[in-house]
Order: sequence, then structure tokens, then C-alpha cells
Amino acid sequence: MTKLDKIAIILPKGIPFRYIKGQFNVYSLSTVPLTIPALVSLIPKELNIKVEIYDESIEIINKESINADLIVISAITPTVNRAYKYADYFRSKKIPVVMGGVHATLNPQEALQHANSVICGIAMENFPQMLRDFKENKLQRIYTQQENIDLSQMPLPDMDCYKSKSKFPIKLNGIQATFGCDNNCEFCVQPLVCSGYHQRPVEQVIEEIKTIKSKFIEFYDPNIARDKEYLRRLCEGMIPLKKNWVAPATIDLADNEDLLKLAAKSGCRSVLIGFESVNQNTLNEIFKGFNNVYKYQDAIKRFHKAGIAVAGSFVFGFDSDTKDVFKQTLDFINKTHIDMPRFTLNTPFPGTPFYEKMKQENRIIEYNWSMYDCNHVVIKPKNMSVKELQEGFDWINKEAYKLGSILKRVEFVNLSSLLVLTANIGLKTKCGGSVKYTRNIMTDNSDI
Ligand code: SF4
Repeated sequence: MTKLDKIAIILPKGIPFRYIKGQFNVYSLSTVPLTIPALVSLIPKELNIKVEIYDESIEIINKESINADLIVISAITPTVNRAYKYADYFRSKKIPVVMGGVHATLNPQEALQHANSVICGIAMENFPQMLRDFKENKLQRIYTQQENIDLSQMPLPDMDCYKSKSKFPIKLNGIQATFGCDNNCEFCVQPLVCSGYHQRPVEQVIEEIKTIKSKFIEFYDPNIARDKEYLRRLCEGMIPLKKNWVAPATIDLADNEDLLKLAAKSGCRSVLIGFESVNQNTLNEIFKGFNNVYKYQDAIKRFHKAGIAVAGSFVFGFDSDTKDVFKQTLDFINKTHIDMPRFTLNTPFPGTPFYEKMKQENRIIEYNWSMYDCNHVVIKPKNMSVKELQEGFDWINKEAYKLGSILKRVEFVNLSSLLVLTANIGLKTKCGGSVKYTRNIMTDNSDI
């Protein structure tokens, strides 16, 4: 038997959080991620393990003071360099390290150069198994998630674990009903990280929502509208709970007027739609041809008519994009009154077929994973220069979040309009002005 009295779980800091210091922290503004609460809830009670959590988004980690038998680190690609630094440090102190999260899932062999073991995909079965194996001195190198994982066994996340972390109130209102996605949009990691699409039982999700004190719920699902019958049951279950909620969804949700009404009745106040591009050729090229640009405007009107605000995601740097794409997209956003536009750059995440394709075409210009934050150009675009792409991206972020643009754009669709306005001001701070995304600011090679 190996000693396993205490584990420490570390979440290295992410890019949006590097600018916010002090106790009034990012989780006072945006919802706490579920990673740590989910992992804490998965620790088998019979193992009697103490757990300490360290979330670098809201605290400075004094690594020398961490005293545990096992370190668990979860990271995404732009935070993985820091994760590796932590892993190397603890292993130099002879403390074993286990890594999980999107980057390690897609690149287990790379992660194993820094960790003793890697947990791939949804941790529900493999995290407790890893702890049991560790204790019995049988730790495996890689834990692979089953494709037919049964999420009905998923315990409720332990939201209490964050409560001592901040003097100010923090937002403990995140929830995830479904995992993964079985569409295959070229730029997206979702189809790969969870090995397909998986649902929790609706009844279990409703029970979890009942435990959330906040009136406002944020779904972390990649696409809450993937299964319309599932969404219908979820909405029906939510009506008596009288919550307000927001979630990502595909645009075809607008095709079903009854479901849209039901969603609004259940408290849906905003959806995040991946429009990605205003050019149909681009959408076909990236295997997202199920989005039809000619139906975008009508769909947005239908959301607004139902009283649901629209956050729209747009990606730049696709092969058919020219330097005109920024102005065309901004005009479209203004014309259609997309309430909260979000912009990212086309990023081939390592471990995906898209990354391999870009590598084969010799188009990767950046191998520092910290730059894979979707705000930096990391590939050679086809129809503009790297400079034009980065400058166009910075331009649209700034233009879309000028105060005048916000006021013109926001549709005052319902009582949540104040929420939309507040979200826009928040996004203005992040995207539009005070923080300029430059290579120097965003590269995080700082010491741990
Ligand atoms: S972009 Fe959306 S629809 Fe496409 S694969 Fe990702 S989650 Fe699924």
C-alpha cells in the first residue's frame, strides 16, 4: 500500500484571469469552473483522503507550502506550460503527479514527460479508480475514458470546496448536463475530448439545480440543444424552479418555435450560438455546413421574439477569409443586433487532426502552447498575412465594444437586458480596450 492521506488539486491560471488581482476576483464576475468541485466529489469516501485545492485564477500559490502525497493538475492548452512547471517542481520533490484536462487528454504522451499518470476525458470513473490504484501501488500510465460512460453515477460537484477561497461572494452557479459533441467542426476539440456526446439523466440535473442557491444558472454544456427531446424535458423540469439560465446551443434551436417558447418559459435568458463565419463557403470548409448564413438573421429574430438574448461566437483565420472579413462580420453583427459578440482566432489545438493538417502544410508559426489561447495567430492564414489577421482581430474586438456600438447593438429583449448590458461592459474590459491582446502581454512564461 502507498501512503495517500492527502492530495492537492491545482488549476493553473488561465489567460483571462491574469489581469485581475486581489480578493475581488474573477469568480466574483464569472462562474467558478466545475473542474475542482467535480474532482473533489469523486474522491471515494472509504479512502479517507484529505484534499487541498489551489486555483491560481484567484490565489497566489506558494508551492513550497504544499504538502501532499499526490498532486493532481488539470490544464487546457494555454495553461499547460504552467501546469508542466508545477508538475516538474513536485516531481523534483519526489511527489507523484497526475494530469488531466483537455490538453493532456489530446496529448497524453507529451503530458507523461511531466506526470506519472494521465487521466483522459471525463474523470468520473477514472479519477476514483486512479486514486484506488495509487493507494494499491498499481498506478497506470494512462486512464482512458470509456466511450459508453454512464453519467447517471456522477455525484453532485462539491461546491463547498471554494467557499473559503474568497472574502467576496463568488459565483457558484455552473452546471453541466451534457458532455462532448458529435458534430465535427474542424476547429473544435469537443468531439475528441469526451469521446462523443453523453447526457446526464434530466432528473439528476434538476436535483443539482435545486442545490444551487443563485437565481442565475450557467450551463457549461458544449451544446445544450444537441438533443431537442432532452432539452424539452430539461426545460419542463426547470419551470417550477424559477431560475434564469444561459447556455451554448446550435442555431437550429431557433427552428423549433415551441421549444424556444418552452426554453424561455423555463428561464432561458441567453444562448451562445457558434455562428463562426458569415461566409457559407467557410462554414462548408470547416464541416459546419449545418449552419446556414442565409437563415442567421431570421434565427436571431426568433430568439429575440422569444425574449432570449443572443451571444454570438465568430472565428477568424479560416482559409477562405480575406482581410474584408472583419468589416463584413461587424456589419452583420450590427445589422442583426447580436447582443454579445465573441471573437476568437482559428487555432489548431495540438492532438487534433486539424493540428496535424496545419503541420503537414507547414503552416504552424507558433509552438509555444501559451499562445494557443484563440487570441493569437498561431498559423499562417491563406488569404492575408499574419499581421493583417492579428490586426483585424484586434480591430473588431475594439470596434464591437465601443460604448456607442454596444448601445446601438443590444436588443432590449426582456428584463435581462440589464444583464446583457453588464455582460457587454465586462466584455468591453476584456476584449475592447483596456486589455490589448499583444504577444508580449499574453505569453505566460513567468515562473511558478
Ligand atoms: S463547434 Fe459546437 S457544434 Fe461544432 S463540434 Fe464544437 S461543440 Fe459541436
